[in-house]
Amino acid sequence: MSNFREFFMQKLLILLKPGDIDMSAKDFVSTYASYMESIGIVGKGPTGYVNFPSKIAPVQEQNTQLFQELVDLTHTLDIHTVASMDFYTDGWFARDPKYHTVSPRGEPMPHQICPNREEFWAYGAEIVSELGAFPIDEILLFGAGFIRDHFCFCDRCRNEFAPTVDQEPARLTYEYITENPDYHAKWHEWRAGKVNEGLRRLQAAARASDEKTGRETPLKLSVEVLLDPETGFSEGGKGQYGYDYNGILDITGSVIINLYPWSPILPTSGSAEYNELIESLYFTNEFTRRGGTASLFRWGVVSMEQLQELKALGRDASIERFMTTFSYPADYSTRRESAIGNY
Ligand SMILES: [Zn+2]
Repeated sequence: MSNFREFFMQKLLILLKPGDIDMSAKDFVSTYASYMESIGIVGKGPTGYVNFPSKIAPVQEQNTQLFQELVDLTHTLDIHTVASMDFYTDGWFARDPKYHTVSPRGEPMPHQICPNREEFWAYGAEIVSELGAFPIDEILLFGAGFIRDHFCFCDRCRNEFAPTVDQEPARLTYEYITENPDYHAKWHEWRAGKVNEGLRRLQAAARASDEKTGRETPLKLSVEVLLDPETGFSEGGKGQYGYDYNGILDITGSVIINLYPWSPILPTSGSAEYNELIESLYFTNEFTRRGGTASLFRWGVVSMEQLQELKALGRDASIERFMTTFSYPADYSTRRESAIGNY
């Protein structure tokens, strides 16, 4: 990647995969540290594997040295140091039929966990405390919601939700829920409750890690929310993914808006869609007003033009923090299909 320097100079937080760094951590840091305000490294990716030594998660052994050296070095230089963690997007754990989320027709989704799994919240909390043992300032939490409105129809979700809408678990269908606006509203509220409960567990683990490590500034947990025209921008995202923006503000105080994850092209400034997008970002004002953080994020930003486009949008939406990755997630097509394809 030749334009690391230019990207860093734009005060952009780049979330790097270990493979993006083709030199030692020491060489990387000594080359770029003077331009770097912050740096991100993937802690746990959507494969479920982690890049640091872990007692509970499967480990990519070849990456652990780079991970440890990088966060130690950047921390020492007072560079804001960030690790990412995919949560329900966990291909390793989701192979287990006890955990993966299920479509209305009963199809298992072996790339994503049902957010109604207390045992998995405990697993996530363990990962947060393992990450929190490293000298990092922030965790970017990806994949924190449901796949879409049509999820989840696993046995546990059926058994819990069906009685609240006077239905037998086995006979609960997506049509049954959506044809009654009250049931549909209950569905949204119930799912958002699960998402928030999971976040509370992770936030508690972050606070416990502060105590254990004596961290001066609390470890920040920033939660990804997907915002796409295909899923109704921010308002539609609440119902689709189970987000409760005020809940996230209360629980962790920091949100990452993943812009247009399913639609590759951002609208042109001044167009009707552009204005709709800016309007749908108004909810972030509440974050800033109450001392929280809102960041704009995009997958696969590789050119300065793409970056300037993102920053221009941020100016119009009064958002000042930007994050990117150089690539799309490896399981992107599966995820996109399950989020906006035919289910
Ligand atoms: Zn479920």
